[in-house]
Amino acid sequence: MKLAPHWQILISLALAVIVGWSIKMMGPLDGGFFSWVIEICSLVGKLFMNLLKMIIVPLVVSSVIAGIASLHGVKGFGRLLGKTAGFYALSSLFAIILGLALVNFVQPGLVDGQPNGTIRDAFSSYEASDSELKKVDGAKAAGEEQSGSYAQLSGFFIRMVPPNIFSAATNNGQMLGLIFFSLCFALAMTRLEKQKMTTLKDVFVSFNDVMIVLTNFIMKLAPIGVFGLLVPVVAQTGGEIFFNLGKYFVTVLLALGIHMFVVMPLLIHVLAGVNPLAHFRAMRTALMTAFSTASSSATLPVTMRCIQENAGVSKGTASFTLPLGATVNMDGTALYECVAVIFVAQVMGIEMTFAAQFMVVAAALLTSVGVAGIPSASLVAIFVILKNSGIPGAETAVVALLSVDRLLDMSRTAVNVWGDSCAAVVVAKSEGEDVLSN
Ligand code: ASP
Repeated sequence: MKLAPHWQILISLALAVIVGWSIKMMGPLDGGFFSWVIEICSLVGKLFMNLLKMIIVPLVVSSVIAGIASLHGVKGFGRLLGKTAGFYALSSLFAIILGLALVNFVQPGLVDGQPNGTIRDAFSSYEASDSELKKVDGAKAAGEEQSGSYAQLSGFFIRMVPPNIFSAATNNGQMLGLIFFSLCFALAMTRLEKQKMTTLKDVFVSFNDVMIVLTNFIMKLAPIGVFGLLVPVVAQTGGEIFFNLGKYFVTVLLALGIHMFVVMPLLIHVLAGVNPLAHFRAMRTALMTAFSTASSSATLPVTMRCIQENAGVSKGTASFTLPLGATVNMDGTALYECVAVIFVAQVMGIEMTFAAQFMVVAAALLTSVGVAGIPSASLVAIFVILKNSGIPGAETAVVALLSVDRLLDMSRTAVNVWGDSCAAVVVAKSEGEDVLSN
């Protein structure tokens, strides 16, 4: 008997936790056999990630062009854009408000109503590794460039209209420029005479089908790939700071869980009569891939495959909603940014008024659109919001949060991908497509 793909991935995740934890229990990794095991696992994980990333550019270009060309011109496109953007804004707003409510209710940064000194000390005494420092330096540079809401907004439009599509394509996780070019190309294509347009469209549809076949091949390797990705994470995460931040972890995971398992299912059920359980089943493999890779961009090929093959969404709708969603719609990230910023403010003893919290909500909504679909990308946004809100200790806090980020990153990435897939089924249903009904 052959196990279904999601079971294979789940078993491999469980095995990775056991192996990673056992290695961690053996003591420090200093050059022995276990360091070697970790290195091999990292290599396998990286190769799997690269395989997925390798097909993103041709997949996005071919699917957006093939999909939009089948929408019959600008009118169909405008309608789809309106619905998709509306759903994205609504679900992200729900996510942020949920995060805000929980962080104010649980108050993970306070003890007995006072700032938690232990966490503040842990923040400032945390000794970051070289690679963490490098990441934070990158975040600082990007953050300083983007501070100010005008700069963020203009940066978004500049990324959307790139001067060179090839450099846009090489910019890891930032597909906005590529999507924009593909949209323009597809819309222009619909102006060609029928014969030419049909030939060109057939080429892109076949090209896209090849990408889906490739995705299927790559996903056969997923159980090995996710094992390689997870073992080093489990073996290397931890230390005291992990335990100090326990309440913060619970708050984030609780908020993400409520958004994923309560808010979004209700939303797709009420708005479009979609059966949430059937949709969850259809998306299982994509959600596990998102969780293992912590990258919504790398997961995109799998999300595209699941939504078309299991949820019955058409190529036209999937090609429009999903690549765009993987780039601009991040419910989990928006929620996380909000919780993280208010948490750091609590730890630092900064009173956040209603107006200040409102600014954080607006900033989380805005910056989550610009965050790339790659691991730990939202730390840049958190840095920017902390700086803009005048909360002290932004740098040390971001370094410390980075050290425990992976599990939260994996969880919020799954929520990001789930949000995109919900938008796809809701839009598909509203277009009269035969998707998973009650
Ligand atoms: N890793 C997330 C994603 O790819 C982005 C983030 O929140 O850091 O969706």
